[in-house]
Amino acid sequence: MSFSTSLKQELVALPLEKTCCMASELGALTACCASISLQGRGRLQMVYTTHSPSVLKRIFTLLKQGYGIGGAPRLSSLSNFGGMKQYQLRLSVEDSRSLMRSLSGDHKGAHHPALYSVPSRIVRRICCRRAWIRGFFLGCGSVLDPRKGYRAEFVMDGAQRADYLVRLLKLGGIEALRSERRGNVIIYIRQGDALFTLFGLMGASRAVMELENIRAENSLRESLNRVANCDTSNFRKQVSAAQQQIEHITRISLLKGLTSLPKHLEELARLRLSHPDLGLKELGELASPPLSKSGVQHRLRRLAQIAQDIQQEN
Ligand SMILES: [Zn+2]
Repeated sequence: MSFSTSLKQELVALPLEKTCCMASELGALTACCASISLQGRGRLQMVYTTHSPSVLKRIFTLLKQGYGIGGAPRLSSLSNFGGMKQYQLRLSVEDSRSLMRSLSGDHKGAHHPALYSVPSRIVRRICCRRAWIRGFFLGCGSVLDPRKGYRAEFVMDGAQRADYLVRLLKLGGIEALRSERRGNVIIYIRQGDALFTLFGLMGASRAVMELENIRAENSLRESLNRVANCDTSNFRKQVSAAQQQIEHITRISLLKGLTSLPKHLEELARLRLSHPDLGLKELGELASPPLSKSGVQHRLRRLAQIAQDIQQEN
């Protein structure tokens, strides 16, 4: 199961809250998933469509508990739509009318503002803001597996609703970004911290814990990689420096002989030849008496100088 699906399953299993929040969550789900079909003679029917059976079940529960709409809604699954199955919940004409009236709240008289606008009362209460964000996420949100990257997005077809969501997220402490894709507005979040806040706002405590573990794994992996890369590059530098020192020593050995060197330099030259893979510190420890790293550096510079002088003489 994808991370997104399991997050949604956690959300739809949350117990229903206060009436105000139920209205909020259903309002958001209606804005994302509902459409209105005309039944002739001015009669309208509301139809909820979603890819997720569990989201549809949540919508049904909210309708029943929050609005007493139990008038046997018709459930149907559509044939594959772009390779994905869609599920529909169709309300009766009477239920559609009463639901639209209740959802539209402060827009009396209009026919179906529930689908296009957002009641202003929701912004005023924290509980309702959270429920609205949860409804939006269930209806049109998704999240990438945090092992692959931190990103959650909401896809919506109305700029007004997108503005509203951005505002709600901001009130919850999340700075969301916006882009467009195939005529839809995309509101997205792409930081681990913001994802934490989002999951927490929606009430998904299991997902918060899972994200915490994944983030810890990710940062451990990153730091291990960093150490590994750093070691490799230091090792490369060390090897190429040692190669150069061995070249100098070989030149002296071929053109003048190592015995021509002062004793302390000869000793280090021989040590270097027999231990080409050692770092300067370790090389110094083999000398008698032992040398410090800077002592080794100093003698190696002397050897390089001598090799250069011999080269010029010849
Ligand atoms: Zn509320």
